[in-house]
Amino acid sequence: MELLKQRILKDGRVIGNDILKVDSFLNHQMDVALFNEMGKEFYNQFAHKNITKILTIEASGIGIACIAAQYFNVPVIFAKKTESRNLDSDAYLSEVFSFTKGKTYTIRVSKNYINSEDTILIIDDFLANGKAALGLAHIVEQSGAKLGGIGIAIEKGFQDGGKLLREKGFDVKSLAIISSMENGKLSFAD
Ligand code: 5GP
Repeated sequence: MELLKQRILKDGRVIGNDILKVDSFLNHQMDVALFNEMGKEFYNQFAHKNITKILTIEASGIGIACIAAQYFNVPVIFAKKTESRNLDSDAYLSEVFSFTKGKTYTIRVSKNYINSEDTILIIDDFLANGKAALGLAHIVEQSGAKLGGIGIAIEKGFQDGGKLLREKGFDVKSLAIISSMENGKLSFAD
């Protein structure tokens, strides 16, 4: 998606060789007009899948998922990263290793909100090694729902996640795929 690629080039900052900081429009301050175009693009890619719910992970996926959901006209569920007394004890759980934080945590989704009748679209901001998406896919699998696809804003194509998920047969669509960030210089796959 050209608009997103141009914005990454303009405002993204490369940290080391493998982290892209996009705090000024995606991960901290959020450009809602850009999210709106991203939401439309996710809808173009996945409308034919008869999506009934969008599943994302807190916190950065939530904004993107909510804007996209307005096009699909479906609810958004976000997987929680911390245990809380508010959350139903009956929950689907999965373990996720965080690329940015370097630690493993448990994600959880109440069993009330996904069931075997659903077709789920997973949405997240970044795809690196695929651990977050795999954790979410594991939750969908436990619920018996169908996984319609995985929509990613920014895929780092030089890391393994995209290959891993596509080899598993998941329909992964990324709005921008970065092929390299070596020495602070950013290039896209297409
Ligand atoms: P994965 O689970 O695919 O290894 O990593 C994806 C998750 O880690 C995303 O949910 C995202 O929050 C975070 N992440 C991975 N790489 C980056 C990056 O380069 N920049 C930012 N801002 N977040 C990232």
